[in-house]
Formats: sequence, C-alpha cells, structure tokens
Amino acid sequence: PIILGIESSCDETAAAIITENKQGIPTILSSIVSSQIDVHREFGGVVPELAARSHVEKIDLITKKAIDESGIKMDEIDAVASTAGPGLIVCLSVGLSFGKAMAYSLNKPFIAVNHLEGHALSPKLNCELNYPYLLLLISGGHTQFLNVQGLGKYKRLGTTIDDAVGEAFDKTAKLLGIEFPGGPQIEVYAKKGNPKKYELPKPIFYKGGCNLSFAGLKTAVLKISKQIKTDQEKYDLAASFQKTIEEILYKKSKIAFEEFKKINGTAKNKFVVAGGVAANQKIRGVLINLCKEENFEAIFPPINLCGDNAAMIAMVGLEKFKLNQFNKLNYPAKPRWPLDEDAAFLKGAGV
Ligand code: ATP
Ligand code: MG
Ligand code: FE
Repeated sequence: PIILGIESSCDETAAAIITENKQGIPTILSSIVSSQIDVHREFGGVVPELAARSHVEKIDLITKKAIDESGIKMDEIDAVASTAGPGLIVCLSVGLSFGKAMAYSLNKPFIAVNHLEGHALSPKLNCELNYPYLLLLISGGHTQFLNVQGLGKYKRLGTTIDDAVGEAFDKTAKLLGIEFPGGPQIEVYAKKGNPKKYELPKPIFYKGGCNLSFAGLKTAVLKISKQIKTDQEKYDLAASFQKTIEEILYKKSKIAFEEFKKINGTAKNKFVVAGGVAANQKIRGVLINLCKEENFEAIFPPINLCGDNAAMIAMVGLEKFKLNQFNKLNYPAKPRWPLDEDAAFLKGAGV
C-alpha cells in the first residue's frame, strides 16, 4: 500500500509518502517538513493563530511536493492519514481537514492518527521492531514511559508530573538568551561547558517510581541565570542542566526497565526512545550505555525523524491500513488525546 501522511499539530507543516517493500519493510518515498521558525522567532514561542495561518498557506504546496518527490501518481495513494491530536486545535484542524478532503476526492479511506503514536512508531521506518517494547517518549509536550503492547495498546508506567523534558530545554534556552527554538542549541552550548559547575535539583529522584519532574530544575536555572555574566558561565549552566537531565533519565529508565520486565516476563527487552529530545547525542549515549548494562536493546529513530514529521504519521497509517482501521470523515480534532486513554481517564491525569 501507498500511504500519504499529513502533520500540522504544532509548528511544522509536513507531508510524506511511504510504502512497504515486498518483504514488508516500510520505505519512505518522500518526507517534506516545513518549519515555521521565522514566523514565531520574534515572539519567542509558537503563536497558535499565526501557526494555523501558516499551515493553511503551505499545506497544499507541501503535499504536492511530497507527491512529486515520491515519484508516485496521486491516484496511486491507497489511504490518507492525518494527525488528529494532541496539539493546538487551530493547527490540527488544518491538516485534518486537508487530509479528509484528499481522501474524499481520491475516494480512498481516511485514517486519524495520534501524533504521539507517530513518535512511538517512528523507529519502524528504519528498522524492524516488534511488540512489546518499552517506550520513553521525550518531546516538547510529553515525557512518559509506556509499555507498548501493540498498535493502539499503551500502558503508561510513568509520566512527568509537571514540565516535559523538551519544554525544560526550551525554557532553559530562553533563560540563557538563546533565540527560539533554543532547545537543540543547549546541546551545542553544553559541549563547551563544565557539567560539574552548578549543582541543580533532581526532583522526585528517590521516590515516585518512574514518574519524573522538571519544574524545580527550571526554577533553579532561573535563579542562577540571573547571576551569570560571561559566555563561559552560560556554557557551564547549559552543561550542568543537560547533565542533570541525563542523570534523571538514566535513573528513571532503570526503574521503568524493572516494571517492564515485571509485565512482560521473558519477552525480549527493547527500549525505544522517541520524540524531539531523542535527537540529543549526549542523552542517546547515556541511555545506550544503560541498555548495555541492563541487557536491553536500545532503539532510536534516525535523528531527522525524532522531531515532528509526516513519515511517522504515515507509518501509523500504514499499520492501521493493514488492520482495516479507518475513520469517518467527521472524526474530530482532539487537542488532548493521551495514548493510554483508559488509564488517563481513570486517574484523571492531566498529561
Ligand atoms: P509533542 O510531540 O509532545 O506534542 P512537539 O511535537 O512540540 O511536542 P517534538 O517536535 O517531538 O515536540 O520535539 C520538540 C522538542 O524537542 C523541543 O522541546 C526541542 O527543544 C526538543 N529538542 C530538539 N532537539 C533537541 C536536542 N538536540 N536536545 C534537546 N532537546 C531537543
Ligand atoms: Mg516544532
Ligand atoms: Fe511531536
């Protein structure tokens, strides 16, 4: 099958065409991502109304580009998959409506995709990966450990009780005076700094199972950032911050490993790390080492598929297509859409 994927949940307008080869291995035929950095830079963050407008302006051109680059003809598309949530509702609505219209006009099935499931399945675009696996989702809006039992089958083992890791990176960048989007730049600063210079707090390090917390870290960074004057001190703070994140993720992943093993017993132990922050080389290194120590297989998406893209949305579309899981054209945009809906509902959790 040939799947068109469309993504517009936040500030990336993206479209991709994927298929699978005769061995059933997914293949990306094209993947176009257009970022709105220029639109939001002067505001220091994503402005929803401007983001939505930019999606509207670009979605048709980006989709056309994806189809052209893939080498397929429009009528060869077998299904259209759009992100339906979670995200900014004004942004989601653009890609969702566009995808529905494409499906309707091509007379092909429509598939509504959870953006987080896109991140969760992103490594499948690059390597063979069977269920179950332990997922650490580290993105701009989410930080969770999930036991992934199958397509659409997620059990949350732990979550941040306040900020997401990506959010902590972005806020620290802002405090250091780095232009939006600053998160990735922290990694660059950290390379030039001394990670032992500043002692930063690690909230709920010794309790709370594999739940995580980053808000206290941000407050500490705020205090220190007011006192620092030189560039070197900035690099040192970035390095100390990143080091603290590494230690938290190392420790909490280790706890999650135990919980995963309790549930899955003798299953082959696999640890997938996905989401924008999974692009961070230092964090990758630390978690790869942990996997070596604990006899888990470490699996990361390629760097260019860690951040938001439409290939991962098409990937979920492909799996759903094969199971005949289609959606009606009145499927709503869902600004809040946890992967483990039942558990989240029962606990009344906000993440
Ligand atoms: P969500 O997927 O939770 O809805 P999102 O789509 O905004 O949120 P992603 O696009 O998956 O998030 O990831 C973006 C986040 O990743 C940003 O917070 C960004 O700072 C962070 N990020 C990107 N590259 C790096 C890096 N090299 N080091 C640390 N953080 C990074
Ligand atoms: Mg983004
Ligand atoms: Fe994302």
